[in-house]
Amino acid sequence: MTSRQQVRNDTVVSIDYTVRLDNGEILDSTEDSAPLEYLHGYNNIISGLEKALEGMGVGEQREITVAPAEAYGERSEEAAAWYPREAFPVEDLEPGMTFQVEDDEGRPVLIHVSEVEDKRVLVDYNHPLAGETLHFEVEVVDVRPATPEELEHGHAHHGHGHH
Ligand code: ZN
Repeated sequence: MTSRQQVRNDTVVSIDYTVRLDNGEILDSTEDSAPLEYLHGYNNIISGLEKALEGMGVGEQREITVAPAEAYGERSEEAAAWYPREAFPVEDLEPGMTFQVEDDEGRPVLIHVSEVEDKRVLVDYNHPLAGETLHFEVEVVDVRPATPEELEHGHAHHGHGHH
């Protein structure tokens, strides 16, 4: 087989990409950095992007639109709750601040302060990008077979050493 490498499960894929929000704002880009390298098929990147990359070849470019459900989820109005102000031992508490807390099972959860009153604080558990449609411009830069160690770990190992 001499066909060029294609993105499929158990390959390590390098992509250059720029991702924009609906309003055109650039959220992230590899323009000034190394390509993103990830192990395909292990949910290491958002599912809508991973699905769209499947089968692409090295050098191929594509515009990919990812709906919220396949990106950071839909916004949920129920994912908000008021907490007493003293639950936040921070002097200058302001809307927009982010805290990492633990859920009932001890897993890390990111919460966002959306309103601050004298005695209470409104916390939003939605991901800051929940409800956003993401617009990717992607180019597949490289595809290589994953090493046994990478497959065992479920992620790509970049350059030297281990992370
Ligand atoms: Zn590892």
